[in-house]
Amino acid sequence: MKISSITLVVILIIPTFLSQSCSSATYSLEDIKMEKIERSSHYKEGKFLNLNKTPGFEFGNMAKTFWEFMFNNNEKKPEEMLPTQQIDFTLITNGRPGELKVTWVGHSSQILTMDGKIILTDPMYENKTALIGPSRYNGDVPLNLNELPEIDIVVISHNHYDHLNIGTIEAIHEKVKHFVVPLMVGAELENIGVPREKITELDWWEETHLFGKFMIALTPAQHFSGRGLFDRDETLWGSYVIQGPYHKVFFSGDSGYFDGFKKIGLKYGPFDYTLMECGAYNETWHTIHMFPEESVQAHIDLNGKIMQPMHWGTFDLALHDWYDPMIRAAKAADSLGVTLSTPIVGETITIDENLKTDRWWEVYTSEK
Ligand SMILES: [Zn+2]
Repeated sequence: MKISSITLVVILIIPTFLSQSCSSATYSLEDIKMEKIERSSHYKEGKFLNLNKTPGFEFGNMAKTFWEFMFNNNEKKPEEMLPTQQIDFTLITNGRPGELKVTWVGHSSQILTMDGKIILTDPMYENKTALIGPSRYNGDVPLNLNELPEIDIVVISHNHYDHLNIGTIEAIHEKVKHFVVPLMVGAELENIGVPREKITELDWWEETHLFGKFMIALTPAQHFSGRGLFDRDETLWGSYVIQGPYHKVFFSGDSGYFDGFKKIGLKYGPFDYTLMECGAYNETWHTIHMFPEESVQAHIDLNGKIMQPMHWGTFDLALHDWYDPMIRAAKAADSLGVTLSTPIVGETITIDENLKTDRWWEVYTSEK
């Protein structure tokens, strides 16, 4: 049995099996605005809830998934290194008003240079998701943290290890002006020394305005949270609308496909660019991670113009072939007339100038 299989069993199956009955938060509730949390319509008896029912694993499914883990022959990691570029921070710091640049650091970590500000999504700049978690299969993180410029905003979608990386936050927080997180996630940042005044916690559909011209809204996602065996769903999860004076971007976080995308599209669309999770799916946990065809449909529901699939090509977190997300997303995008943005890890692209749409992964797969 491979390490990654053990990891996934620990991270996904065991917490799910043990969830709901135990409560042992690892963070202090002091100073948290409990009134606001208890007012939340999707908070009940100490746990946050999805808008739709998302059943946990049933025993039959668990056994099937375990069997699949042990004996599947899928190409979960590439046989050779995929192309990457070392991040060139001079490209990131010279953003002009009216310009949107996107740099994929891998997985769900993106650097947006948007209308003159620098915004990070789910910064995860370590080579392992956790002590026993999977390692990056595509080499080291393509950036030198010493070169990281001052960051205006960091948004974090939820507290799973591959999205909220404590080592990264410790390394960068003094360079960050402001963090925006879902309800209850702020305590995790405070525990490692991020000053409370630098953290804004949002409930779904809440907005915060920063630097005069930037609006960040936390919007719903269909997922779950937890960093241990006994804290499932004690902190909120979500997606983000990031709006500057000239551009609007959607960042999906992790989510199953649900009718929330249409609601977000109606309220905040159209979007110049959507960053959509597209990877780590399985029939067994289909309600909390989308199939690639659904990621494309969600982009359409959001009224997005250009879609970049993410949450693939970095960590081995599921059972599918490493390239399956992109083969399927590309096919769905072609049939639905969606433009897919497909930078390699570390590459900085400028929307409207040098959008990359080539299907570079095909060279590294046997499937076309
Ligand atoms: Zn997650």
